[in-house]
Amino acid sequence: ESLTGDVDLGAATMPLPHSDERRWSDTSAYARKKILQSWIQLPNGNWELGKILSTSGEESLISLPEGKVIKVISETLVPANPDILDGVDDLMQLSYLNEPSVLYNLNYRYNQDMIYTKAGPVLVAVNPFKEVPLYGNRYIEAYRKRSNESPHVYAIADTAIREMIRDEVNQSIIISGESGAGKTETAKIAMQYLAALGGGSGIEYEILKTNPILEAFGNAKTLRNDNSSRFGKLIEIHFSESGKISGAQIQTWERSYHIFYQLCAGASPALREKLNLTSAHEYKYLGQSNCYSICGVDDAERFNTVKEALDIVHVSKEDQESVFAMLAAVLWLGNVSFTIIDNENHVEPLEDESLSTVAKLIGCNINELKLSLSKRNMRVGKDTIVQKLTLPQAIDARDALAKSMYSCLFDWLVEQINKSLAVGKKRTGRSISILDIYGFESFDKNSFEQFCINYANERLQQHFNRHLFKLEQEEYIQDGIDWTRVDFEDNQGCLSLFEKKPLGLLSLLDEESTFPNGTDLTLANKLKQHLDSNSCFRGDRGKLFTVVHYAGEVTYETTGFLEKNRDLLHLDSIQLLSSCSCHLPQAFASSMLIQSEKPVVGPLYKAGGADSQRLSVATKFKGQLFQLMQRLGNTTPHFIRCIKPNNNQSPGLYEQGLVLQQLRCCGVLEVVRISRSGFPTRMSHQKFARRYGFLLVENIADKDPLSVSVAILHQFNILPEMYQVGYTKLFFRTGQIGVLEDTRNRT
Ligand code: ATP
Ligand code: MG
Repeated sequence: ESLTGDVDLGAATMPLPHSDERRWSDTSAYARKKILQSWIQLPNGNWELGKILSTSGEESLISLPEGKVIKVISETLVPANPDILDGVDDLMQLSYLNEPSVLYNLNYRYNQDMIYTKAGPVLVAVNPFKEVPLYGNRYIEAYRKRSNESPHVYAIADTAIREMIRDEVNQSIIISGESGAGKTETAKIAMQYLAALGGGSGIEYEILKTNPILEAFGNAKTLRNDNSSRFGKLIEIHFSESGKISGAQIQTWERSYHIFYQLCAGASPALREKLNLTSAHEYKYLGQSNCYSICGVDDAERFNTVKEALDIVHVSKEDQESVFAMLAAVLWLGNVSFTIIDNENHVEPLEDESLSTVAKLIGCNINELKLSLSKRNMRVGKDTIVQKLTLPQAIDARDALAKSMYSCLFDWLVEQINKSLAVGKKRTGRSISILDIYGFESFDKNSFEQFCINYANERLQQHFNRHLFKLEQEEYIQDGIDWTRVDFEDNQGCLSLFEKKPLGLLSLLDEESTFPNGTDLTLANKLKQHLDSNSCFRGDRGKLFTVVHYAGEVTYETTGFLEKNRDLLHLDSIQLLSSCSCHLPQAFASSMLIQSEKPVVGPLYKAGGADSQRLSVATKFKGQLFQLMQRLGNTTPHFIRCIKPNNNQSPGLYEQGLVLQQLRCCGVLEVVRISRSGFPTRMSHQKFARRYGFLLVENIADKDPLSVSVAILHQFNILPEMYQVGYTKLFFRTGQIGVLEDTRNRT
């Protein structure tokens, strides 16, 4: 094997094919000269490991694993790490922190069911899509005793408990990732550990039981995940002085449904009759997906689990029945159909079983229900006019009513659970919050939902950056390192683009939403007119605009933005619910009114209409996000990034491109990048002296570790700007240790 030590991977001034590549390529000339292995990008985008045989001029000869030898342009090579670093459990230990090396390391571990890896302070979790033997009491015990130190959710939860007790500071575990990446499972695993360590009072059992309830009412099968959370969740677990769990509180955003299928499959004959329930196939709302069952899931059995869980969190049998009645009402509402009543195409609901069952279930007069689904009160100046509805408008009104009833039901349920989890429990002010929230999204087409989600992620990213920066700084200062500020990018610019008043994305959206003549196109034009000078914004053709997010550019299409931002529910519907004889609809009506910004209860309410008085969806979202950030702001955060290795929910399949894109989006590569701008490789004087001391020509093995270390640095000509000597550790720029490792391996 002919290994030429002197390989130069192209001059640093050469333009690289992709601007990102440049950020990731290692710049130390010394390091570049000593590389033995390198990453080669294949035409399909995947990276393959090759040995550098020789380099002449601008080309290098590379041998690939299957024996093939290829010629490549030297500057496209990306250095690979020495074998000794294969599968390290912290990416920061890698000597070369480029994208293929990170990808390879995660893949190497994933193949051995080591799904957890650290990236400095962040835990990366790659979804195994199968059971992995990493959980349960034996593991919990090992992490509690710290006899197992490999990266794990348990280790994160353990650190959170210890820091909560040691520093008397609340903690948070922030879990993000895209749909199907494993956030909810990870949150449950963290809860499991907290319950095991902080258990004893019995309340931990109740807390764990909130999972099946929230999943039944809040999760649904989607294309990307059989058990997709349609809501974001923050669960705050309270601890007493002695470190025992004393209660919990849950906050959620947005919601939807397995529970409908479970109800249809599992309701007893008596309940069926009472709710006039038929099979799931009969309901239009459930038939839209044409999917009535999930592989491996028994809905009837799940329904019983949910009922048991409801018992445990003290929702009375009577309330449970009201909940089921509301579910049935929503289902029947979806079956309400309309008939044309005049020659202007106005409609009214058909008086059939659907309509009468809805009226019975919510306890209202059937005529009032009919009216609210066929007319809308509008306020024009000081007058109220009654507008008859056409078929599309009536369908919208019906669906909006069903949606808001369901969302009120979900909120009501969460409120009941919170009451149960807080009864008689005195708060000591210590807590660990677990946040399970949708990650950054970028699709071919991006709409209002992605706009909101990405805005939230931009805020979380700032939280993340600031925390990381602080940690880095602390470590340097603690070890007496000269901390000249490393180049640190913040995403404040993008956040300002969203939040600036009056000329930010949210303000402009809200303004356009209040204009009766506003359309998706006028919105797009308005954004372009006011924001085009902003470096995080680009107006594109038609209804398109692009935002430069921390995780990359996303092009949004304004189609549907205004409709989705205006709260569709009309006050007529609220009025209808408040007139019901059942207590749940009444409770819903009052909660909907409280959500309105202005006091709507007075004359306005009686008149009906005035939709513009209600808070826009984006503004509500922003308010909730600020509340969330405020809560997180007072905690020590711990970050877990979940990664989905393939789109088929199948085990053992690791798609490089997909993983890479997520690593970029969830900021893992950003952590690596930020760290690279400083001195990411750290080793104690002792370890360094022990590991490389034998390479010294001069025998000074009896000297103290610091002296030995310094001698090694000199012998190997490691340039002064490439390292710093701290009180306890040596700090290196990226790439430095790799050189020493290679020499060590050749010796
Ligand atoms: P969404 O954003 O759609 O709610 P999510 O990130 O919450 O998605 P999960 O529902 O937690 O994703 O995970 C999807 C599926 O992946 C789970 O139903 C489970 O089958 C599998 N999975 C996730 N994590 C693990 C794990 N640690 N061990 C085994 N399987 C897992
Ligand atoms: Mg989830």
